[in-house]
Amino acid sequence: FVISDFPTFLTDIREMYIDASNIQEGHFTEYTRYLKEYHSTDEWGVSFCSVDGQRAGFGSNKQMFTLQSLMNPFLYAMSLDDMGPEKIHSIVGQETSGGQYNVIKLDDKGRPHNPMANAGAILLSSLYKQSLNKSERHGTFLAALRKVGGLKASAESSLSFDYAAFMSEREDCHRNSSICYYLREKKCIDTNMDVEQVLDVYTQMCNVTVNTDSLSVLAATLANGGICPITGEQCFSNDAVKSTLSCMLAAGMNDHSGIWAFTIGLPAKSGISGGTMIIIPNVMGIALYSPKIDKSANSARAAHFASVLNAKFHFHEYDPV
Ligand code: GLN
Repeated sequence: FVISDFPTFLTDIREMYIDASNIQEGHFTEYTRYLKEYHSTDEWGVSFCSVDGQRAGFGSNKQMFTLQSLMNPFLYAMSLDDMGPEKIHSIVGQETSGGQYNVIKLDDKGRPHNPMANAGAILLSSLYKQSLNKSERHGTFLAALRKVGGLKASAESSLSFDYAAFMSEREDCHRNSSICYYLREKKCIDTNMDVEQVLDVYTQMCNVTVNTDSLSVLAATLANGGICPITGEQCFSNDAVKSTLSCMLAAGMNDHSGIWAFTIGLPAKSGISGGTMIIIPNVMGIALYSPKIDKSANSARAAHFASVLNAKFHFHEYDPV
């Protein structure tokens, strides 16, 4: 096994979990009416899945929440495999913007800065399975994510879709409408494309729901070079995973990504609903959920947990062990 003494590892993790539950910093997001109402809770869940399928969950590990920007790395990996890296990197960059995740700004080649922030993700969502109709695109995306998470399609699934959250975001996504009109004005997306249609696809992708148990498997597939550790199925090419992890390290934690790379040194992604995933390449995927976010829109507890985890286990890529 990758984690040879799993019981001792779990004892250590349980202590860190309890320690982090004392962290009360951060604020609840007010981004949408739905998130404001349903995410103003003290839920705290942590799950692990190793690349050889050892799993554990703590606290609110069954609580469902919306992926939000946690879907961006998966959309990017799918886009690389569907359309090839040359095409993808001709339309979206590989640098941080230096601004917030929802900044309305393009790089000097007229592209969104990277696929981890809203502009890049909206652009990629506009191209996702374009030959299919909207309902098929939604179904195909859900099915693809379930495959990454090693899950069967069922109503009970721990990877689903929250219609109320989706409708609420559709009403409140004024910033994303602005981003989308800007992308169209600058011809990043086809000038014939209907902005509302593009936003529907993007917003549906953001409102896929997971819990930390299922998200940890999605993360572990990235840790495992694209092969789901539960089913053994190849979900992404090695190259797509390599690019995705690089991009997550460079830009996954919004405008805190540089400090994150220094202090934690692991590819990670946050979502505005308080979910976080951290990848330890060739070892495991970690999923965390705690809705209070900091000024960079990253979960405050997750950041604390990651630093305590690193202090103990030296997972930082450049830690001399
Ligand atoms: N759906 C959210 C938005 O578009 C995602 C942002 C996030 O999770 N950081 O603003």
